[in-house]
Amino acid sequence: MAKTKAAKAKSANPVNFGTPPGVSEGQHFKSHAELHAAGVHRQSGSGISGTAHQGVDSIVLSGGYLDDEYGEHEIIYTGEGGRDRETRRMVADQTLDAPGNAGLLLNQALGKPVRVIRGLNISGKRRQATGGYEYCGLFRVAGHWITTGKEGFRVCQFRMLKIAPGETVQPQPVSLAGDTDTDAEAAVRRIVSSARRQRDSKVVRQVKEMYNDTCQMCGLRLVVSPDGDAISEAAHIQALGEPHNGPDKIGNVLCLCPNCHALFDRGARQLSDGFEVIDGLTQKMVGVLNRVREHQIARECVQSHRARWADRPAVLAELDAQS
Ligand SMILES: [Zn+2]
Repeated sequence: MAKTKAAKAKSANPVNFGTPPGVSEGQHFKSHAELHAAGVHRQSGSGISGTAHQGVDSIVLSGGYLDDEYGEHEIIYTGEGGRDRETRRMVADQTLDAPGNAGLLLNQALGKPVRVIRGLNISGKRRQATGGYEYCGLFRVAGHWITTGKEGFRVCQFRMLKIAPGETVQPQPVSLAGDTDTDAEAAVRRIVSSARRQRDSKVVRQVKEMYNDTCQMCGLRLVVSPDGDAISEAAHIQALGEPHNGPDKIGNVLCLCPNCHALFDRGARQLSDGFEVIDGLTQKMVGVLNRVREHQIARECVQSHRARWADRPAVLAELDAQS
């Protein structure tokens, strides 16, 4: 039988951030199997649950590294790799490219929380938690560095801070100051910018849906399939990025046909404060912008677009120089 959409999404996306429903801080679990069943830690046999591309959703502290420091609100956590499976001693340097370490970097970059679980009464060569496990709540990754550990090999360490009730975790830059970026950091930056683009396209989709792909300036709807599907373009009124720094929100986006978009981006169409469509070359009004109630267009963005085209030859020269 075919899997349902939800089941497919679940199996394709094992990383699940946050405290699972029904679980509370301080809760005790007898075994890894119990942690797994409750969705607290789903990676049996490993201290880090997560991937390099999605981030880490939970870690188990078992005192495995001499360099670890555990406090109630701050943890210095040594990442994964470099350890011999049998002797449990470090035999090689760790790198940020190991999946768990790259994943923790991604948590730092995206501001994703990590569930922290503490093993109790750790004993034996295999670091068994003979007293079971305690769920310690959500932490954020506040920083990372690479240093020489007590066993003489390079270790990746992460500073993790307990998330206070009501605290919103902010994304943090991931590069080490004054150091060249590692491959893992470059990969993390790529993932972060693709996440940003996806969020942008959500704003774009919203505005296109509001107008059913119909141009707000000329009313054209370009139908491209027998089912009536149409295409439109999303135009930022005040350009994003340096030096214009337009906001990435629906109030700064118009749904236009490709022609009107090209004219608008070249200042040949402008908007008045009353949302009339102005011919930028003759300054004559040529129409009125179609607006739906839920689309509150930011007047300051419209003004900024007009102001930009006040000195038309200078802007066109600048655009030509860029292309
Ligand atoms: Zn149009």
